[in-house]
Amino acid sequence: MTLPRDGNYTPYVTMQRMRHLAACLVLLAMVFSQTSNAQRAGGAPAPRVQNPIVIQLIIDGPDWKTVKTAVAAGASTVGMLLKEGVSAETYYCTSPAPRLQLPDKSLPWGGSTSSNVAMHTGTHLFESKKMDDIFLNARRAGIKSVFAGGSPNYVIFDTADYLYYGNDLTDQQVIDRALQHFSKDGTRLLRLHLQHIRDHWHGPADTTNPNSEYVQYFVKTVDPLIAQLFAGLKSAGVWDRTYVIIGSDHGMGQTSQSGHPQSTLSSWETFMAFYGPGIKKGATIPYAEGPDVAVMTNYLLGLPPLRGHLEGNLPPKLNGVTGVFLSNIFEGAPRELAHHRLVERYLKSNMPRGDEYVDYRAAMIKLLSE
Ligand SMILES: [Zn+2]
Repeated sequence: MTLPRDGNYTPYVTMQRMRHLAACLVLLAMVFSQTSNAQRAGGAPAPRVQNPIVIQLIIDGPDWKTVKTAVAAGASTVGMLLKEGVSAETYYCTSPAPRLQLPDKSLPWGGSTSSNVAMHTGTHLFESKKMDDIFLNARRAGIKSVFAGGSPNYVIFDTADYLYYGNDLTDQQVIDRALQHFSKDGTRLLRLHLQHIRDHWHGPADTTNPNSEYVQYFVKTVDPLIAQLFAGLKSAGVWDRTYVIIGSDHGMGQTSQSGHPQSTLSSWETFMAFYGPGIKKGATIPYAEGPDVAVMTNYLLGLPPLRGHLEGNLPPKLNGVTGVFLSNIFEGAPRELAHHRLVERYLKSNMPRGDEYVDYRAAMIKLLSE
């Protein structure tokens, strides 16, 4: 570049450049705001907290009936979350089939049920282990994560920075590990799975009986443990920037066996609620599905969109994130939301629904390809 000789020339060029630069910045800002609106898919007011802590707090199996019975019987911490947060009136998980087995008999996600994977990946299909998830996305942004849950099946969730699993991991230890890594390592994504309520299941009549061992475990063990977790976060002074997504990974069957067969509708019916700054208080939304939980977890952490399957060998409609951004949980947003309701459409269809995951998979491929 040649230097201008005329003394008046320099400011003129500079001004032109500045105008040009200003125009570019305005354009850039417009592009960014459009992108962020698209990510929010509905333009709800974005939460405005610095360094949020996001907890995916999953209790294994309870439905809304159980939760309501437990709250009425004294589960006051969960009661507070519902009273001060947003509940999904209808919430369906992805396939509750115990094994996510593909047609070639492979088990890319080991012994984990699809409904748990969906809450990490934001997808309805899980065709390979090579998928993006909330833990990987958090790590890319320098946010540390912990997964702790009382079943050996969770060994597969090795993308979390700190991972604890196994039958011997008690619900108390799950909460302890979360608080330990929060204090020592500053983990801000806490994915906790209280497994052992399942040990107290005796059948579907438990869910409405406040004196059942099942509901009593919720009231006397699960709820106080959640209170311990919250007390730890409050004493650290971070409660006002903490989000809690509380729910269950799947429902339960209709027998005394502690199972969740895909062919039984109640295995799909579970509960989900959202709590935190900028989220409506004491409100309901009509509908949500498992993959939406990953989308919302990711958003509340302030992360860019999840990427879905990473191998890129699937048709575009099947490859990416298919969960819905629930703009209707936020203050100021309308209650109604256009939701594709993929799982409900499957459950109400005539498509085959035996106990094998492949039935669900075939239905999702069909619905997503439409
Ligand atoms: Zn489970």
